[in-house]
Amino acid sequence: MKSLNLKVSRHFSLLLFNRTHSSSSQTSQLNKPQIQKTFFKSNTKDALISRLCNDGKFKEAIDILCHQKRLSEAVQLLHHIDKPSASIYSTLLQLCLHQRALAQGKLVHAHTRASGFVPGMFICNRLIGMYAKCGSIVDAQMVFDEMPERDLCSWNTMISGYAKVGQLAEARKLFDEMPQRDNFSWTAVISGYVRHDRPKDALWLYRMMQRSENSKSNKFTVSSVLAASAAIQSLRMGKEIHGYIMRTGLDSDEVVWSALSDMYGKCGSIEEARRIFDKMVNRDIVTWTAMIDRYFEDGKKEEGFSLFSELMKSGIRPNEFTFAGVLNACAQHAAENLGKQVHGYMTRIGFDPLSFAASALVHMYSKCGNIENANKVFNEMPCPDVVSWTSLIAGHAQNGQPNEALQLFKLLLDSGTKPDHITFVGVLSACTHAGLVDKGLEYFHSIKAKHGLTHTADHYSCVVDLLARAGRFEEAKNIINEMPMKPDKYLWASLIGGCRIHGNLTLAKRAADALFEIEPENPTTYITLANIYATAGMWGEVTEVRKMMDKRGLIKKPGLSWIEIKREVHFFLVGDTSHPRYDEIHHYLHELSKRMKEEGYVPDTNFVLHDVEEEQKEQNLSYHSEKLAVAFGIISTPPGTPIKVFKNLRTCVDCHTAIKFVSKIANRKIIVRDSNRFHCFEGGICSCRDYW
Ligand code: ZN
Ligand code: ZN
Repeated sequence: MKSLNLKVSRHFSLLLFNRTHSSSSQTSQLNKPQIQKTFFKSNTKDALISRLCNDGKFKEAIDILCHQKRLSEAVQLLHHIDKPSASIYSTLLQLCLHQRALAQGKLVHAHTRASGFVPGMFICNRLIGMYAKCGSIVDAQMVFDEMPERDLCSWNTMISGYAKVGQLAEARKLFDEMPQRDNFSWTAVISGYVRHDRPKDALWLYRMMQRSENSKSNKFTVSSVLAASAAIQSLRMGKEIHGYIMRTGLDSDEVVWSALSDMYGKCGSIEEARRIFDKMVNRDIVTWTAMIDRYFEDGKKEEGFSLFSELMKSGIRPNEFTFAGVLNACAQHAAENLGKQVHGYMTRIGFDPLSFAASALVHMYSKCGNIENANKVFNEMPCPDVVSWTSLIAGHAQNGQPNEALQLFKLLLDSGTKPDHITFVGVLSACTHAGLVDKGLEYFHSIKAKHGLTHTADHYSCVVDLLARAGRFEEAKNIINEMPMKPDKYLWASLIGGCRIHGNLTLAKRAADALFEIEPENPTTYITLANIYATAGMWGEVTEVRKMMDKRGLIKKPGLSWIEIKREVHFFLVGDTSHPRYDEIHHYLHELSKRMKEEGYVPDTNFVLHDVEEEQKEQNLSYHSEKLAVAFGIISTPPGTPIKVFKNLRTCVDCHTAIKFVSKIANRKIIVRDSNRFHCFEGGICSCRDYW
């Protein structure tokens, strides 16, 4: 048997290798299957190679090793050949290029020199390509410089090598020097410009290309310049390229369609992007995901969600990017029902618990205030990433469970996961909600001292929030004065919020002035300041603030609340009487208000901006949108059903107090998600513990 095996021709042995390596299940067409069987039983592949080596058939051995991608062994064998042929060098260099093996590539190159091999144009181009791909553009340039003669491929490989690593001046210099250019030369420089954030240069060169006679854009050129138009948001340029694509028949390629759709989307013409998307024949999941994300980025959540459900019907399998995009949109819009559907779908088709779609699920449930489900998904993750930990910590903090949040943070540290700066935002806000001022300060200092992270503007806002709510204004002032960056609007908003609670007029004025400078158009600052003055009975100042608002043409954003009942969303505005069941709502609110007063409720009228009579103020309060929505929720659901209401603004102090009473009187769990956080009212208490 052995002698038979030895006689196996090289061609035959390679054929055998090809068969065993290809994963195809087709049955062997070899007419001597029994030889193949024995051959592999009694010999390892290495035995064949050593036998070939013994026979002095190094070239054959190298071929086999290259085929098995065993580069370094193949390169070693090279030293046993006196005069290797160009084809051996070529094969080896190609493998070095594919494996990005610079060290081995250098060995091969050195061998060509040592063996006295004179490389022709083809091998030189291979060397340049290998060096450029392996990231040693200096060596590539050296080979290029030593070449007695160069062809278009030599120039193009050098240029695209420089363009890819961002040495655009060098790429451009060669481009300008080269004796003749083809599409590839132009496209290499243009796409280099696009990839390295120089879209204007890319478009300028594209114009030159169009004027030059013998170059025609290909699909890579047009995709690149479409990306450049998108980067500078030049719809005009993008449309022009679109016209060119249609005229030259480049529109048969999916890559071009995707680039077109992307350009329209980024230039703000999302309808056109969708039209292109609809025309595409072979839409893959990347294209779908891009289109869906485009809607979400543009704030068009209905369109985004509806395209996602079309995708689910299309039979194309979403990937984790698709899920993450949709789940993040659900999180942002607190669309928990849809998020649950997405979760169900993910479970049905199976998703990787290690993927970031899983952490997007935790994030979605946390943001929607469903901590139970967030926990459930989290617990099923084999090794949760820092994003999931952070979402869950923030979720607990936001949903009135600050101690659980801090407990989780301890577990995170124990697990060896490194917290990031966003994790600390969650930790600090948990301390704020729990009123743990000193503990919070300790965490704040540990960010730098213990965890080696730098304090971000968000950390400063959190710590100022923490101190201001507790009325520790001196410390807050010290921190503001010592922070390395300019305080941002969130910090000042936190400070003015604390001033509102403690009636600190001086500091409120300072915060308001800073806010007027940063965002003069935001009515919230004016209203908060006016409310602080109103609480202090300083009606003259209230009028001043109102005059400032009028002068700048600012209108208080009307409060808007909504509630979903049986898949239908009902909206309520302040003092809204338009709802078909308004009479019932009004009647119920009237009854409630009587019961509430019996229970000890005193309307808090401080937060009504206008200087009006007490009774009228009270009247205004009872019409606040969140009260209307809560009342409607109670009368249209069976007893005991939890009520979930959303509000576009922060809930006011009076509504907050009132809803606490309502939760007790009506014996309902009432969740209010305002612009700031979740409030979970139950049995007369709110989960925020009156910190919001
Ligand atoms: Zn209110
Ligand atoms: Zn609350």
